[in-house]
Amino acid sequence: MDITDYLRIVADEIHSVVVATVDEKDLPSTRVIDIMLYDENGLYFLTAKGKVFYKQLMEKSYLSLSAMTSGPDTMSRKAISISGNIRNIGSDRLEEIFKKNAYMNEIYPSKASREALEVFCLYRGQGEYFDLSTKPITRDSFVLGGAPLQKGGFLITEKCSSCGICIEKCPQDCIDQGSPYKINQEHCLHCGNCFDVCPVNAVIKAERI
Ligand code: SF4
Ligand code: SF4
Repeated sequence: MDITDYLRIVADEIHSVVVATVDEKDLPSTRVIDIMLYDENGLYFLTAKGKVFYKQLMEKSYLSLSAMTSGPDTMSRKAISISGNIRNIGSDRLEEIFKKNAYMNEIYPSKASREALEVFCLYRGQGEYFDLSTKPITRDSFVLGGAPLQKGGFLITEKCSSCGICIEKCPQDCIDQGSPYKINQEHCLHCGNCFDVCPVNAVIKAERI
């Protein structure tokens, strides 16, 4: 899947997401909001100028969101998280938002009442996709708006002696034998078992390189 697929899932399939900002004491602050639109430039949502959420957005220009698809059980769901920069685009696309999300007409029925609303775009950042329905699990990282990709997880270096200990501890069977052994990153849980058990410290955290 590419970035547009992930944005479509967040906006159209999930729609209501948990968003975290930082309050005036630098403590986390969360709420559920609706993602109203998406396009190749990002995700669009709105809020009213009187809300604390609006103030936090205007002060920090940054947020994190997490969302999960619905499904009969936890193992059938897919989760997406995105953190990044937002910009206020005023009333741009407000009409389009009300056209696409008809229920908004019940909350803000008149044009006059909508003057309290402003639209924001999440335009730059990094996201994580996590699918528990596959065996092994599937994960992916993606960037929005040209943000640099911050790698996570673990890598196996040339110091690997091919002893095989890490394979026994890997909950997803996502380490291939070889010289050196290799982690299948798209199936890795980032649990750290391989890092903990390697007798020659051949496993390193990805952010170190
Ligand atoms: S435990 Fe360390 S040395 Fe042994 S196979 Fe895994 S990475 Fe290589
Ligand atoms: S971090 Fe966990 S899931 Fe990933 S390769 Fe290591 S042991 Fe396997």
